[in-house]
Amino acid sequence: MNRAYKTTAVVLRGRTYGEADRILTLFSTERGKMDAIAKGSRRTKSHLAGRLEMGNEVALTMHRGRNLDIVVSADIENAYWQNLVAPEKYAAANLIIELVDAFCEPDLAMPEIYALLTGALRAIGRSDESLGLVPRFSLLLLGALGLAPPLDTCVLCGASLVEKNAWLDSEQGGFAGEECRPNWRDPLALSETDMENLRALAAPRGTASAAVHATPAVTHAIETLVNHHLGRRPKSGAHAAEFAKS
Ligand SMILES: [Zn+2]
Repeated sequence: MNRAYKTTAVVLRGRTYGEADRILTLFSTERGKMDAIAKGSRRTKSHLAGRLEMGNEVALTMHRGRNLDIVVSADIENAYWQNLVAPEKYAAANLIIELVDAFCEPDLAMPEIYALLTGALRAIGRSDESLGLVPRFSLLLLGALGLAPPLDTCVLCGASLVEKNAWLDSEQGGFAGEECRPNWRDPLALSETDMENLRALAAPRGTASAAVHATPAVTHAIETLVNHHLGRRPKSGAHAAEFAKS
């Protein structure tokens, strides 16, 4: 049996292991999320040193191990990292990486999410408003996972929401029309413009109606939906919120 294989992956995180090793969580084209060990990678003379940083996209030669697969060699394809040293970019990258890590099951290739992640890391590296890119990424991630809220119809009764105001019903994972508006205190209201913005965020980039940035109500709605599906608030979210305030 051939135990060697090649894959391309984004480094989601790493932790130190033993004296000089690191255990990495990778998001690979081949197998989706997976753990691997990079032996000796913390030694400055290691040929792996400095290549396996969070957010880097790397071409890997791997060896199937008994427990963990082993990184034999790594070549940097895209060092998004170099563009992420600005604190806001780092916060945005950290948040989207945490969401991919939290939502994706191990050993399941997800090419659509791989493309979404690398596209977003590239865009964050280039953008002056990098945290503003997170809501669209989150909405498209929910879509790729099959968790996207319906944007044209009431999540409860199916009535049309086109050219109407809507209210977030986070417990139902979507938006409700006037007739089904949640009866708790202060449900999040979205105007017609907000709902148009949501549809534009979900539209493929480059199409005439596509938008990149979310309105404040839409940002709040998407964060609430992500937390609902995740069952918690992302750890990096609090860090990102600090920038949003300042
Ligand atoms: Zn309804």
